[in-house]
Amino acid sequence: MIGNPTRGIFERAVAAAEKARYCVAFSSGSAATSAVVHLLSHGQRILSIDDVYGGTQRYFRKIVRPHMGIDVDFVDFDDDIAVSSMLPSSDDDAGRTGLLWLETPTNPTLRVTDIRKVSKLARRVGAILAVDNTFCSPYFQNPLEHGADVVVHSVTKYINGHSDVVMGVACTNDANIYEKLRFVQNGVGAVPSPFDCYLAHRGLKTLHLRMEASAR
Ligand SMILES: *Cc1c(COP(=O)(O)O)cnc(C)c1O
Repeated sequence: MIGNPTRGIFERAVAAAEKARYCVAFSSGSAATSAVVHLLSHGQRILSIDDVYGGTQRYFRKIVRPHMGIDVDFVDFDDDIAVSSMLPSSDDDAGRTGLLWLETPTNPTLRVTDIRKVSKLARRVGAILAVDNTFCSPYFQNPLEHGADVVVHSVTKYINGHSDVVMGVACTNDANIYEKLRFVQNGVGAVPSPFDCYLAHRGLKTLHLRMEASAR
């Protein structure tokens, strides 16, 4: 679980596509999401976009909130009044809000949020901004360039593209976040098989053709 050459090559390829320094692969998109939540500690809080993917919503509401001692609130990041009531000044928050979770465009309603605007909110309270970039894929959008700290993908969808693999990734430019994600990947063990990494790497090679075709 500590390392595998096929997995390492796939991670390097996705990092290049996402214009990230680092990429860590997981056995599903949901496992990548949960690895990012593992960056937080008991007593902290997540502020998530309200229109988040159903599986992420269920994980936040039914597992993280009741079982991990991490609070989760949901907000429409385009609603400035709601955001200001949910996100206090950094003095009031005192590091409690550890993670802003954004998905843009959302699955399945395709709602789009300004990543740069939300990244400024994250900086204000000292939170990590994670963006689920599954629906644009790295071909159309690279959230790290717009202020995100972590980008998550369900590789199951566009990156693999052949409906024969379940996998996920988390990408970052931050060496500290990368070390923690690598530690969680190894310690929790939700790793993809070498063969799945081989298949997903094969899929990645046609991402540009498939995204052009699906955007037509
Ligand atoms: C499918 C999906 C996930 C979960 O990925 P799995 O690989 O199915 O665990 C997370 N976010 C989005 C936006 C998705 O579409």
